[in-house]
Amino acid sequence: MIAVAIDGPAGAGKSSIARRVASEIGFIYVDTGALYRSIGLHMLRQNIFPGDAQTVKKELEHVDIALEFKNGEQRVILCGEDVSDFIRTSEVSKASSQVSAIPAVREFLLELQKNLAKTHNVIMDGRDIGTVVLPNAQVKLFLTASPEERAKRRHKEMLEKGCKADFSAILQEIRERDDRDANREIAPLVPAEDAVVVDTTGMTIQEVIDKIKEFIAAQTA
Ligand code: C5P
Repeated sequence: MIAVAIDGPAGAGKSSIARRVASEIGFIYVDTGALYRSIGLHMLRQNIFPGDAQTVKKELEHVDIALEFKNGEQRVILCGEDVSDFIRTSEVSKASSQVSAIPAVREFLLELQKNLAKTHNVIMDGRDIGTVVLPNAQVKLFLTASPEERAKRRHKEMLEKGCKADFSAILQEIRERDDRDANREIAPLVPAEDAVVVDTTGMTIQEVIDKIKEFIAAQTA
């Protein structure tokens, strides 16, 4: 099995890039952020503060999460319900980053992520894939871009989807999430020592995709 780990901060373009590369080379694309988002959603629905480690840990007993792949697209199944369309709100973004700092949550999701890579060729994106989840991945990339560029991309993406979007609120949310993700004690957002860092500021999606495909081909030849 071949594993490609793509880590990096919110809005670096990981998911759109990883999805396209995976479909072009016939790997499954695993978006691990969706798992943290689903746990965040579950806590909000139960009126549990996502930063309350004790209560969140206890509630995990009632959480069941599975990933399904339909036509190559990942769906997250939370306690039997497909929640994939409910986990992209900014409220859930914030909750996901809060629950992700809780060690019990990370442990809860670890096995599920590792198992997918045992049975499939994967491109997995997240924050700790190259460092914790798949430390033996054949290819490790760390995608990044300036906070302003990432906010600009997210803003454009939301407008294109017909959602209301406020640039400065998005930029602030990205900065807050960066800060929380990079400074948490467990599995903080840092490039693995053997990861190749790609700064995508000023690059088009196609340029990044071509660079990554070249890199994967060279590493797995
Ligand atoms: O990638 P995405 O923005 O959907 O992730 C949502 C949140 O989940 C991130 O802000 C981060 O806090 C958390 N996360 C994580 N580890 C991962 C993937 C996501 O901590 N592997």
